[in-house]
Formats: sequence, structure tokens, C-alpha cells
Amino acid sequence: MMAQYLTLKAEAEDCLLFYRMGDFFELFFDDARIASGVLDIALTSRGEHGGEKIPMCGVPVHAATAYLQRLIKAGHRVAIAEQTETPAEAKARGGSKALVSRGIVRVVTAGTLTEEALLDAKSDNWCVAIGEAGGTVALAAADISTGRFVVIDVKADALGAELARLAAAEVVAAENAAHADAATTLRPSATFDSGQGEDRLKRLYGVATLDGFGQFSRAGLSAAGGLVAYLDHTAKGALPFLRPPVLSQAAGAMAIDAATRESLELTQTANGQRKGSLLDAVDRTVTGAGARALAGDIGAPLMDRDAIEARLDLVQHFHDDAALRERLRAALRALPDIGRAIGRIAAGRGSPRDLGQLRDGLDGAWALSEQLSNGPPLLRETTPRLRGHGELIDLLRRALVPSPPIEASEGGYIAAGYDVALDDLRDAGAGGRRAIAALEAEFRQKTGITALKIRHNGVLGYHVEVPARSADALMKPDSGFTHRQTLAGVVRFNTPELHEVASKVAQAGAHALAAEAAHLEELTTAALASREAIAATADALARLDVASGLAERAVEGGWVRPELVDHSCFEVTGGRHPVVEAAVARSGERFVANDCQLSEASRLWLVTGPNMGGKSTFLRQNALIAVLAQAGSYVPATHARIGLVDRLFSRVGASDNLARGRSTFMVEMVETAAILAQATPRSFVILDEVGRGTSTYDGLAIAWAVVEAIHEDNRCRCLFATHYHELTRLAERCEALTLHHVRAREWKGELVLLHEVSEGPADRSYGLAVARLAGMPPTTVARAKAVLAKLEAGRAKTGGLAAGLDDLPLFAAAVQAEEEQCDAIRAEVEKLDVDALSPREALDALYKLKALA
Ligand code: ADP
Repeated sequence: MMAQYLTLKAEAEDCLLFYRMGDFFELFFDDARIASGVLDIALTSRGEHGGEKIPMCGVPVHAATAYLQRLIKAGHRVAIAEQTETPAEAKARGGSKALVSRGIVRVVTAGTLTEEALLDAKSDNWCVAIGEAGGTVALAAADISTGRFVVIDVKADALGAELARLAAAEVVAAENAAHADAATTLRPSATFDSGQGEDRLKRLYGVATLDGFGQFSRAGLSAAGGLVAYLDHTAKGALPFLRPPVLSQAAGAMAIDAATRESLELTQTANGQRKGSLLDAVDRTVTGAGARALAGDIGAPLMDRDAIEARLDLVQHFHDDAALRERLRAALRALPDIGRAIGRIAAGRGSPRDLGQLRDGLDGAWALSEQLSNGPPLLRETTPRLRGHGELIDLLRRALVPSPPIEASEGGYIAAGYDVALDDLRDAGAGGRRAIAALEAEFRQKTGITALKIRHNGVLGYHVEVPARSADALMKPDSGFTHRQTLAGVVRFNTPELHEVASKVAQAGAHALAAEAAHLEELTTAALASREAIAATADALARLDVASGLAERAVEGGWVRPELVDHSCFEVTGGRHPVVEAAVARSGERFVANDCQLSEASRLWLVTGPNMGGKSTFLRQNALIAVLAQAGSYVPATHARIGLVDRLFSRVGASDNLARGRSTFMVEMVETAAILAQATPRSFVILDEVGRGTSTYDGLAIAWAVVEAIHEDNRCRCLFATHYHELTRLAERCEALTLHHVRAREWKGELVLLHEVSEGPADRSYGLAVARLAGMPPTTVARAKAVLAKLEAGRAKTGGLAAGLDDLPLFAAAVQAEEEQCDAIRAEVEKLDVDALSPREALDALYKLKALA
């Protein structure tokens, strides 16, 4: 057995091996040590290997799913080795000592789950492969729980952003890939060969050319081919259902890099929770598929105005018609998740209940389509996809009982009246069971033992059971009863009559089960034949759920439909932050709405004001409004007019990130550098306290230079919050920069934060007042006041921290001066004929260059 185990283990070296033994999956050696730790189950041992005891632990097969879930969550992969023959078959093959043969039937990994219990109903579960060819990069992503499959060409520097958007459950790459990290699953490079990938896709979809799906890049073929090969590997040849790949353009969406996503908490908060994210604050969907689609929309706001308007039209349709919205949402709420049901069926793990879900879901979708006759184009496009499964619905309706079980092995899911032969078998079984009940009464009467019972179990089948004290009479040879088993308190017997009826019942039962299983197979085949249309129906339902959910949210919060324009303005009146607003409301306060008016003439707002005054909230709410608008949602404002944003950036000064324990100032600078390199005039940037992660002088200098560069070079729309009051001097040099502050007032010695954004610079920083507000002891505050007075007196004498900054040449002039200097040096260097120089002349030339530098 150990030899067989070790062979299997060698096939799945990077996995924990679940080795099937009877009713248990056993783990051995290091696998056992790891699993017993993660699962908190007992580590025992079994036999010896090389003179040492073999560590072992096991989990019962019937509860394996829960254990799998914990192992996968903890980052492990699990290979499942099942018995591939019955013990009887093994005996017939190799005699009584023969070992049952086993094989790995599946590798369970985070990216290849389909089980309802292992998946989050509200999130997509992407398995992503990175493909590379000829210096370009592409991603292929599949969610095998629903069969979605997309291929995306990405620029190498946008790879991280795309991976962050997809929030992949698992990332796969070739073992020689340039873009893999420690968590990446590495696969043989040959499986990522683009030529082989093309062939694999053609075979999978049975097509001679892939042109019908779109124009794939070589990198795209490498990624898609590598992904399909990997899924095939984990499913051990039973490749799950994949819809034809959709080519998606990363360029079609607003570019949002990983750091921005994290800082804006679009779909999850900094500590990985959905609760507290924008998505959570917006989500009023009523189905798992709707929630997944909404997460996709929020994570990838669109750039195509027509597509955004089409989504907004649909939201408005449901926004304006409350009765329709209510009806639709009630209907959707009652529908099962058919996308995931067909996914499980296609992966060969479908149950009778999944078929029941398809029946109810498709039936419900049809009924729904009849209520949605007229509306905007997106609705007219969506409704037809809800229909067209009449035959399948009819078949499933006739064939299945109203609520079929998850387990097929016990039967009982095929409806009466669907198959006459099955009905007969069931009648025979039921008749037999009635006969058995009659026998029980007869035996009681005959023996006079009132406690006599006929029972059934897996080992003895039907048998007679009497209390031990009444057993003597039945033990006699002529009693007609044959002794089978004595337990504490009870004795069990058989009789020829019981045996005969019981075998009839058993036979009828076995035949009925076989008949049901055959029907299950037919029904599964029928469902799979229209799996693409079913998946399209699932998508259509999700789209309706997203739109009506957004409409519901808009009504609930008094949100407004944004107006989208092509020039770079950003005009929001009465804007609010959906997450902070909810938090503020919970503590019984009122959220103060604020306006933001960015235009060509005033595209950079410098926002100053006390800590806790609401600067970050203001910055973020505007970024979130841009995301919501381009995702096709209403926005929390009374009026919004937004020029399409091509890239969105959000950076928070280092000290806010301290909890994450990175070299935070370095991270801050790397991220800020990325903005300066990438932001275009159509981008939207929020910078919160950039420069804070270092000393005052360094920080002020960096913040100053960043503001200038954004103003002069990037020319994007930007909100810049800072506590460096000195930066307000920039207003005199940068014509499109305007000053704003969050208002605060001291009232009877108390600081009152008004959370109101007004024009002009803040008059002072109120730092000490904030300290008092935070509960700092009065003695400490008083001491700080004294220190401050000293510092300020010193500052007045020297002209202050920013003394001298006004003498700096303007940013453009500084850049120009530097360029002129470079040109002069370059000209000198070009004049040199190095081969003709004597050592003396070379030295002279060096002096000359040095003087120019
Ligand atoms: P800052 O960035 O200026 O330090 P924050 O934006 O972090 O301040 O806001 C601090 C707190 O003030 C928030 O957690 C919230 O409770 C409250 N707050 C912020 N903006 C508003 C607002 N517009 N209306 C009401 N309360 C607000």
C-alpha cells in the first residue's frame, strides 16, 4: 500500500494527498503533519517506513468538503486519490490479498472550485494564467463555476493592475515566466506554447479557426492555452465547462492600478473585507450572480460613453418605475443561481438539485421576460435571452420531483409518472415494504413477543430484532428463526419468509436506483446541450439584478444620474461619500455634502485644514463618484457632470499606511512616481498628504515639486490634500491651482469641525485643538502650547519654514534651464574626437565639461 501511496504522491508533489481508504481520506508523512495542524485534528501513526513510524491523520469522506475548504483557505492544494475499483473487483483481479487500485481523480485548488460550499456566492472565482510571447503579455481568466472565460492583452506595466482588478483566486504561469511571484502556480513551459495553445483551443471548441472568437495575440494564445491545459490537469482530463473566450480590452476600461484600488477600497477594504467597501455600500442586488456582476462593473468602470449611457438608461428605467422595480426584484430574489448550477453540472459534479435549480431558474426567467416588454435598448437586448429553454424546462418539470436532493445515491429524485417502468419498480418496493410490515405483526402474534421489530441496516439488511430476555424461544431450532447476531440487550434473527420478501424489495430498489441514474444522465446531457444559452440567460438575469439594484440604491440614497461629457470637467454638487455617510449616520450625525468644481481653469485643488476635518473623505468621495458614474451607476450627489476619466489614481501619504508594515515612505514615493509617469490630461488624481512620510523639509520639498509637476506636466484633474500650509504659496505661481480648506471653528475653547469645504486657504492648523479633542491630557496640551509659541517666535525671526521658496524659479523655467545645460554639455561631448585627443587635450576637455555641469 505504501508503494502505491508513494507513487501517487510523486504525481502530486505540490499537493496534500487525500488517499481514500474506505470511509476516510487518509494523509501520511508531512501531509499529515501539515493537515493535522491546519485542521486541528489528531495526528496518529500507522505502520512503519524505513524503521520510523508513519505519521497519519484522516478525515471522513462525508465531511471532506468542510476540511477541504479550510485547507484551500490556508493556501494549500489538495490531490484526491479515489479507489478506482471496488474491493470485489480487486479480489477478482488479483486474489484475496489484492490491493484496490487508486488514482488521482482531481486536484482541488483555490482557482478550480465549483462546490457551492467552497465558493462565495457574491464573488467571481477567477483562475488566471499569465501568457507571454515576443515581449508582450496577456492574461486568460476563467471562472469554472460559471464557465466564464476572458482573454486580455495587457501592457507589462499594467499587469499588476489587471491582476488586482480580477482579484484572482489563483494565478498560473509558465515555470520560466518573468512575471511570476511566490504565490504563482508554476506549470511546464511547454503548456504555455502559443502554437499548442491555439491547437488546444481549436480542439476544445471543435473549430478550424479561432477567428470567430476574435483576433488573439500570440501572448493571448499562450495564456489561454496554458490555462486550459492547467484546468485539464487539475480535473484529470474531465475539463470543466468553458464558454468560448471573450477578448477583452484592458484599454476599454478606466485604468485603476492596484495601489489605487486598495486605497479607495473599491471592492474590499484594506484588511480584505467586503464590508466597508464601496461595493458593499452600493450593492442592493438580490442574487449571487448579480452581486458578482456588480463587483465586476465597479472594478472595471467603462470608458465608452455609449456603453455607460446604455447602462444608465436601464438603471433609470427601473429608477423611475417603482412598481416594476419591486416586481423584478421580488422575482429575481426567488431564483436559484443557474450560472453556478450549470457550472457544477458541466464539471461532472452536478446533483439532482442542480437540475432542479435549472428548471426553476429558467422557468422563472421566462416568466420574468413577459413582464419586461418595453424599455431602453439594453433591456430589449436582454429580455430575449431570458427565454428559449421551453423544451428543457418542460423535460425537467416532467422528470424531476419538486425539490430534488443533493445526493443522487439514494434516488428519489425522478418524479412519479415520468417512467412507467420506474413506477412499477417503486410499486413493487412499496408493496414489499407493506408485506414486511404485515410480517412484523404476524411474527409478534405467532411468538407472543410484543417488543419484536423488523429492522433494516446496511450489514444485515432486513432482520427480526427482539430484546435479549425474550430471545430464548426463537433460539430453538424448530422456531423457524435463524440466529444472526447477539448484541448487548438485543438479539437479531432472520426467517425464510422475511428473506424472500426482503430480497424482492432490495432487487426492486436496486433496479429503481439504476433507472433513476440513467435518467439523471439523460437529463444532464440535455442540460449540457444548451449550456451556452443557459449561461447567457444567467448573464441576462445578473444584468437585470445589477441595474435594478443600482436603481434601488439610487432611490434609497437620493442619488442622481450623472451627465457624462468628453471634455475634462468634473462638476459635482452636493457630493457625498457613500461609506462614510453610512458610518456617520450610524452614529446619529449628519453627513455634510460638498461641491467639487474642476475645470480647465481650475483643475488642481489644494485642500488644507485640520486633521479629522474631512479632507480625505472629500478627496475619496469624488474619486468614488467618478468610478460609480463610469460603472453605469447613479452617484451620491444632487448634480454631477463628469468628463470621462481615463485613469484614476489615489495615493495616501505614508503614515496612514503604517499598519501595513512596509517601508512606507519608499512605497509612497514609488507610487507617486507612477502617477507622474502615467497621468494624462484626462486622468483624475487624488493625493492625500503626500510627503508626510519623511522629515518636514524633505516632505514639503517633495510635495511642492509633485504639485508643480502635476500642474505643469500631467495637467490632469487633481485634488491634493496637505497639512503643509506653505504649499498655499503655489497658488501664486500655478494659474490652474486654486485653494480650498475644510472649515473648523473654535467655540468656547472647543474645536468644532464643520466638514465643509470652502474656498481659500485654512487660516491655521488647529493641531493642538485636535489633540485636545482626541483626549490628550490638559497638562500635555498646555505644554505643547508653550513649545509651539517658542517655535513660532523662531519661525517669525527666520521668515518661516518656507522662507526663500518664493525665490525659486518657476517649474517650467527650472526645467528649461536644466534642459539648456544638458544641451550645452551634449554639444561639447559631440565635438570631441576622442581618438585624436592627446592625454593633455583630454584632461582639458574634462575640465571644460566639469565647468559646464
Ligand atoms: P482628514 O483627512 O481631514 O484628517 P477625514 O476625511 O479622515 O479627515 O475625516 C475624519 C472624520 O470626520 C471621518 O471619519 C468622519 O467621521 C468625519 N467626516 C468627514 N467628512 C465628513 C462630512 N462631509 N460630513 C460629516 N462628517 C464627516
